[in-house]
Amino acid sequence: MDVRKLDMQQLVAFLVDNAAEWISDQRERHAPGSEPLPDTTRAALKGYFEPATLARTRIRRVPVIENPAFYEEFENSGESIPLDFRVWAAITFDDVIVVNDAQVPGPPPHSVVFHEMVHVVQFGMLGVEEFARRYIRRLAQSRFQYMAIPLETIAFDLQDRFENSRGRRFSAEGIVLADLFGPESDDDEGCGALRLT
Ligand SMILES: [Zn+2]
Repeated sequence: MDVRKLDMQQLVAFLVDNAAEWISDQRERHAPGSEPLPDTTRAALKGYFEPATLARTRIRRVPVIENPAFYEEFENSGESIPLDFRVWAAITFDDVIVVNDAQVPGPPPHSVVFHEMVHVVQFGMLGVEEFARRYIRRLAQSRFQYMAIPLETIAFDLQDRFENSRGRRFSAEGIVLADLFGPESDDDEGCGALRLT
């Protein structure tokens, strides 16, 4: 298969299917070696997230985050890969946060875990399939600028607010859940309006 021959809708469909499968596989692969959030992290994030959410979230440190196998289709077609996870600090697969030792040596800062917890909440409400669908549709619409994806924008905004909150706690979880059903949360008309450069 040559990914260059796919139109944007086909490319999005290809990515959604493969990403959803990758997320589920990675979750199963990393869950057995994962641990609950450390007590210090749980104390730092208390109030921002519900106790049940903090209790079910798992964390796993790995030497490096590996890119998915389906990226071969891009490399073989001479196309650049959508996102290079090897340089990410951390990534969340449903309820398992995987931290990249190559980027974050030592225990991850609360701020990094906070950001990933936003994704845990999003996964919990949307499920893996819908999370992947929303993430990738918006990724394609923004020409692969992941900072423009609403699921990321809110995570970065709230992370920033957390870093500047000086202990004044706010319900990040409540804000994340409300945002998932807000007017900007999903855009089903987007694919038709895509313009490729
Ligand atoms: Zn993120």
